[in-house]
Amino acid sequence: MMKGTAELLKEHQLKVTPQRLKIVKMLEEHGHINIEEMYREMLKEFPSVSLATIYKNINQMIESGLIQEVKLPQTKSVYELIKEPHLHMVCDRCHKVEDIVIGTEKIIEEAEKLSGYKIKESFITLRGICPACQKKVSEEA
Ligand SMILES: [Zn+2]
Ligand SMILES: [Zn+2]
Repeated sequence: MMKGTAELLKEHQLKVTPQRLKIVKMLEEHGHINIEEMYREMLKEFPSVSLATIYKNINQMIESGLIQEVKLPQTKSVYELIKEPHLHMVCDRCHKVEDIVIGTEKIIEEAEKLSGYKIKESFITLRGICPACQKKVSEEA
């Protein structure tokens, strides 16, 4: 990300604190990260940080529109910085989460037309085997 981390927080009306800076940095680095991974990494720099504090920060950052929770089937939610609309792909073998930028407007529109719902939120996840794991599978065979 080009923008400074502190500016990013300020833009979202969030007070700049060392812990919030660290959270944004982790999200930039990992793309998607769950709360336990975040906690483990935070402890290295902030040995007295609690899980409750991380949740509090995360929730404030969600409210301010800086990050979002990505709900995944059969596994813990991950968090990411809000970017252009995209879908998520999850590998069944290595469990990595990747973004794929495909417009979902058509799907949402169609779903609204068919169901009469006014859709507020969508979590579209595609599961499969990533290219790296496909390669491993064929080498193992
Ligand atoms: Zn994989
Ligand atoms: Zn994503």
